[in-house]
Amino acid sequence: MTDLFTSRPWLRHYDPGVPATLDLKPEPLPVLLQQAAERFADATAIAFYGRTLSYARLWAETNRFARGLLGTGFQPGERVVILLPNIPQSVIAYFGVLLAGGIVVLANPIFDAEGFAHEVRDSGATTVIALSMFHRLVEQVRAELHFPRLIYTNLKEYLPSSQRLLFTLLRQEQEGHRVPDAQASQALWFQHLVAAGQDGELPTLDAGDPAVILYTSGTTGAAKGVLHRHASLYINAYQTRMWYADAEEGNERVLCVIPFSHAYGMTACMNVGIALGATLILLPTFETHNVLHTIRRERPTIFPGVPPMYAALNEVREVRKYGLSSLKSCLSGAAPLPVEVQEGFERITRSRLVEGYGLTEAGPVTHANPLRGARRAGTIGLPIPDTEARIVDLETGQDLPPGAIGELLIRGPQLMAGYWNNPEATAEALTADGWLRTGDIARMLPDGYFQIIERKKEMIIAGNYNIYPRDLEEALYEHPTVIDAAVVGVPLPNGKTEVRVFAVTRPGERVSEAEVLAFLRERVNLPVVPDKIEFREALPRSFIGKLLRRRLVEELLSREQR
Ligand code: ATP
Ligand code: MG
Repeated sequence: MTDLFTSRPWLRHYDPGVPATLDLKPEPLPVLLQQAAERFADATAIAFYGRTLSYARLWAETNRFARGLLGTGFQPGERVVILLPNIPQSVIAYFGVLLAGGIVVLANPIFDAEGFAHEVRDSGATTVIALSMFHRLVEQVRAELHFPRLIYTNLKEYLPSSQRLLFTLLRQEQEGHRVPDAQASQALWFQHLVAAGQDGELPTLDAGDPAVILYTSGTTGAAKGVLHRHASLYINAYQTRMWYADAEEGNERVLCVIPFSHAYGMTACMNVGIALGATLILLPTFETHNVLHTIRRERPTIFPGVPPMYAALNEVREVRKYGLSSLKSCLSGAAPLPVEVQEGFERITRSRLVEGYGLTEAGPVTHANPLRGARRAGTIGLPIPDTEARIVDLETGQDLPPGAIGELLIRGPQLMAGYWNNPEATAEALTADGWLRTGDIARMLPDGYFQIIERKKEMIIAGNYNIYPRDLEEALYEHPTVIDAAVVGVPLPNGKTEVRVFAVTRPGERVSEAEVLAFLRERVNLPVVPDKIEFREALPRSFIGKLLRRRLVEELLSREQR
């Protein structure tokens, strides 16, 4: 056993409660929804501020939307940018476009014109589906890019009138965002397409067809378009679904607050929820009190989230009075989960919160800590079924033994077809024998659990040493007053790199720079110890909650050049 293990360090270790392989025939993605509609026709598929849609109704509206879209002259293979927050129409649009043979392009609804234009241009989209309240942004981009088809919808379509004042988005719609006149803007209305699509043929889909273009978070540079086929996303939904070993199909309730426009929300909330025949509880924005009220009212059992969400909920005073006991299984991904946050959230909810890992290029989920079996804090857990992982030397690419630090490589049926229109980047990321280079530095512990150390691009090289910013950040989190931290390397004119530290303290609590520095020096043993800390109210994070160290570096450089 040991020999085999050492000679093949990527030998797969699995959670004993979950099968190592699924033996699953890939299907076109809409089959997920079709199967749920057949098995759980009357169960609630979507709950949105008191309004519900059954699986049968959701499937029927999705089919009608697909036919309505084809009725406008839409051709299979055309790209459709969906610019919607988590609302019922985003699920209908996603599966409807796929049923019509189109390629879904998911856009982040809090984009500025530049980010949105980049996706329309880069994907060569012919169609945009957007909330009418985003019309200024959409029409600004349309004036330049001339995509032929624009489909608007609004929040009212699926919201009971008594609930209409509930959240910020709607307030914005009512305060000043003139709802555009469909005729003047030559737009189609979503509901008209649903109403028009009573009959007509739908194209036959193949699991190998291109399905979705997702954009990476753009944490380390410009966001890259990632093309997934139906098969990879269908399989990733089931690989992840298997992790919820004791889920009761047809009876779970998934809190969907991570945007479906990100691979994580798309798979872990929407597609996995549908594979479970669960009720998707939709929230278009993350606002702590709104989330807490929703948990109390809708009683979700599963809550996929990102670390800043759990951290924010932990910080709410009297959080226990909301009664969060419905939550059973919570999965954290996209960024490191501090142990303090994990334990704090488990204390207030009595749920199990485990850390997982993934990347857009892999559908995204590849690893997770067991929900029932042994978990290891500070690790991303074990590879999910049918997923191989190995660690290779950063310079030579040779396989490394357990414990050694190198780049994490992944192989499995959930990998992307490639970057959209970018064969050079694809060739860099995918090896000839099907491994994905993640760009993350990691190690595999002797028991097969993986630990992410740092992104390759964010490692700081200081003299002969490698400094991993995350080591210092984690030490800072241990300080009772520090609630967020960032460590970056700033290039100096002399070619060296300076380590700079940022910290956020709990509101109303103060601590001196000297005290935190002394605390840090006690905990980390580094050749270069930073001698300054900048305290901030907040740190720059992306819409999905990732720390944007790049922004801090840019800010420091521009400040210091002046
Ligand atoms: P870009 O590739 O555009 O720079 P990105 O890599 O942040 O952005 P995503 O695909 O959304 O875009 O994120 C995947 C990355 O998120 C992983 O490569 C890894 O660096 C990080 N990540 C995900 N889960 C975890 C985790 N549990 N712990 C640490 N890092 C994680
Ligand atoms: Mg990336």
